[in-house]
Amino acid sequence: MSERLKQKTAVVTGAGSGIGSAIASLFARQGARVALLDLTAETTEPLAAQLRQQTGQPCIACVADVTQPEQVAAGVRQVEDAFGHIDILINCAGVNVFRDALALTEDEWQRCINVNLQGPYNLIRSVLPGMLKRQYGNIVNVASVHGHKIIPGAFPYPVAKHGLIGLTRSLGVEYASQGIRINSISPGLIMTPAAEAWLASCPDPAAERQRQQNLLPCKRIGEPDEVAYTALFLASDEARFINATDIVIDGGRSQVYHD
Ligand code: NAD
Repeated sequence: MSERLKQKTAVVTGAGSGIGSAIASLFARQGARVALLDLTAETTEPLAAQLRQQTGQPCIACVADVTQPEQVAAGVRQVEDAFGHIDILINCAGVNVFRDALALTEDEWQRCINVNLQGPYNLIRSVLPGMLKRQYGNIVNVASVHGHKIIPGAFPYPVAKHGLIGLTRSLGVEYASQGIRINSISPGLIMTPAAEAWLASCPDPAAERQRQQNLLPCKRIGEPDEVAYTALFLASDEARFINATDIVIDGGRSQVYHD
């Protein structure tokens, strides 16, 4: 087994499901000590136990709501106490909020912005002091193709994801001279519990799944591990000259102008 993250410590938010679980698992298999952060420990604790057993890495579950700065700060303290310091932050927690703009409630708007944009910022603010002290830190924000292109009917999710790419570029430049790299990745449709839930909400889920596959030049939907490997590259020192940028992971879909 290669150990591309040997002796690194990582915090992965949204590690209880989908892409976050895949990233946390891959990072542990690649030699990292991983803190799996999510709203509850319901799925992160069993996954952390499984990873400890399979990889020998001292992985832990960490409970925090990323929208709550005090909970985030307490979670980061818990991880620093357990691991000594944090080398890598993966901001993966996110929610789909797809509404008609005029029907959207104030609470739905706030939830979308708070989880998808304020949350990553809360995490970055909490881990940065420790990273700056050591002049070392790699941060990867999980944005979306919705941060580059607009899909009608998906408002206001793209607003938050455009903001997250802006946050990545802006803070990536601010701290570049102090050993910190901040990048983002933008998945297209990836088959996770959130994507399954969205498909299930469509009038004809099977037809919509087929339509989504047909939209992709590669004619298949992406897998969480395919996102995890990109996060691994960016979080590793292999990517040490890559900063303040975004990698799209969508099988080429966003390059298509017309079908
Ligand atoms: P998912 O719903 O399967 O997992 C998201 C996880 O985030 C869940 O475990 C959830 O509990 C956690 N979470 C949500 N709100 C939280 C909060 N306030 N505090 C802490 N944890 C919270 O979703 P997924 O499909 O794996 O998506 C992961 C990330 O990838 C999200 O940021 C999403 O926007 C992004 N993304 C997903 C796709 C896709 O097609 N699946 C495409 C592009 C981008």
